[in-house]
Amino acid sequence: MTRRRVYDGKTKVLYEGPEPDTLVQHFKDDATAFNKEKHAIIEGRGVLNNRISEYLLTCLNNLGIQTHFIRALNMREQLIRKLDILPVEVVVRNMAAGSLCKRLGLEEGESLPRSIVEFYYKSDSLGDPMISEEHITAFGWASHQEMDEVMSLALRANDVLSGLFLAVGLHLVDFKLEFGRLNDEDASPRLLIADEISPDSCRLWDVATKNRMDKDLFRRDMGGLIEAYKEVARRLGVYVDQIGEGRKKPALWEVKKQG
Ligand code: UDP
Repeated sequence: MTRRRVYDGKTKVLYEGPEPDTLVQHFKDDATAFNKEKHAIIEGRGVLNNRISEYLLTCLNNLGIQTHFIRALNMREQLIRKLDILPVEVVVRNMAAGSLCKRLGLEEGESLPRSIVEFYYKSDSLGDPMISEEHITAFGWASHQEMDEVMSLALRANDVLSGLFLAVGLHLVDFKLEFGRLNDEDASPRLLIADEISPDSCRLWDVATKNRMDKDLFRRDMGGLIEAYKEVARRLGVYVDQIGEGRKKPALWEVKKQG
């Protein structure tokens, strides 16, 4: 049965879902950075991001912080709710890193006086420029009331995720969230967390060694990305050794039997 492809993105494909108002989110192995200037296919990356994101979104759902995630389908795919996605990326920061350091001349790893929430306009052609709430409400991308909801959901998610990662020896330095509107016939539209939460969209530093265990390994050509993502999955207790799934490598006992 061929599925209807609704969207083919840099790292994910969306297909029409089996139930009304649902989609199937498929995680590819493609990794991109710097607005697609850098691209590589890293075997197993999609499976790990799917697995980690599925776990983190389930934790948020269970705590009443609603996300688009419905259920896991297979190693690379999850069933999600179809939302009207806001054209805004929301970044929450707990420690200085990345673009914040460049912009304000801070040292990476400096602690911040409090968690900081930033907004970026989702536009590849403009390179996702930073914007303020003023732009978002003036251009009608979200209402004032929706922005209150965005702030509240982002900070609650930050509390939950920071605690969850700290419990397994990782600092959640910063992360990116996307939000979408659920148009429920019986109620007024509400906002849900969308997209993914994974080492691709978070900065995760080992508490003891300060080693990076996130996409900066790819952005900065440091190597060891899959090993780091596997370690994050292992610490969260969601690692399954089926990374080469689809390639059908014979298991060791099968090789012995054949040879
Ligand atoms: N981030 C992301 N997608 C983007 C931009 C940023 O997932 O398109 C995440 C990034 O992984 C980091 C956080 O948002 O965890 C803050 O990123 P920053 O603004 O420092 O940008 P960078 O310099 O990493 O592009």
